[in-house]
Amino acid sequence: MRYFCSFTSGSKGNSAIYVSPGAKILIDAGSSAKYITSCLSKLGLCPGDLTHIVLTHAHSDHISALPVLSKYTDARLVCSEDTYDQLPFAKGEPLLFAEGDSFELNDVAVQTAPTPHDCDGSCCYLFGEDENSLGFCTDMGRVTERIYGLMKKASTLFIESNHDVDMLANGPYPYYLKKRILSFDGHLSNADCAYSVSRLVEDGVRRVMLGHLSETNNRPDIALSESKKALEQIGADAGHIILGAAGVRDMRAPVIL
Ligand SMILES: [Zn+2]
Ligand SMILES: [Zn+2]
Repeated sequence: MRYFCSFTSGSKGNSAIYVSPGAKILIDAGSSAKYITSCLSKLGLCPGDLTHIVLTHAHSDHISALPVLSKYTDARLVCSEDTYDQLPFAKGEPLLFAEGDSFELNDVAVQTAPTPHDCDGSCCYLFGEDENSLGFCTDMGRVTERIYGLMKKASTLFIESNHDVDMLANGPYPYYLKKRILSFDGHLSNADCAYSVSRLVEDGVRRVMLGHLSETNNRPDIALSESKKALEQIGADAGHIILGAAGVRDMRAPVIL
């Protein structure tokens, strides 16, 4: 059996897991080791069971649990070379790659693509193939053609729907931060996410989960309704699409792949 489970998603911490018969891959290690361990135990797992820890990039909301978690696991660290160079902590022999490379983690084929984000070495992932595949892409200002080309191969998609542009514009963030979030290498808006989701569903993606929602500049109901609206506009059969939003320290039910 293969499954995916989001443990926490958002600017206060990101972590999820992709499990196959031969691999247990933690995707990002944000939040705390204690929290990640508690999520793993709900799945009948412990940190020692992890085979790999894969990082999307080196921002602290994706790596903060790494130093403590690494004490309890020999899981191999997997990340881009540029990400590795920015890590304040690393243990063991990492598997390093250039954004865009493909490789295998035990029985899981992995493909990557660079993501435009204000952190060198940022990338997104496609884990597995065909029905079992999971596209995982967060922390990107735009969905580039390369990202799109990779994500359309996914059966299940976890994609950033970071902010509502009006809420961000009228919200409390300082101007420089608003500008950063809206920029090409910032974060993906609900509208941009919804547009990509509708195109990707037309191209065969079957399930979509929205992630990395801003707690200040977004609400799950707004993000979900924007993507639902976009799907309705293309006449997608909503019955085939499981749409969900993942939140901060909001462990979701595992999705069987
Ligand atoms: Zn992030
Ligand atoms: Zn980031």
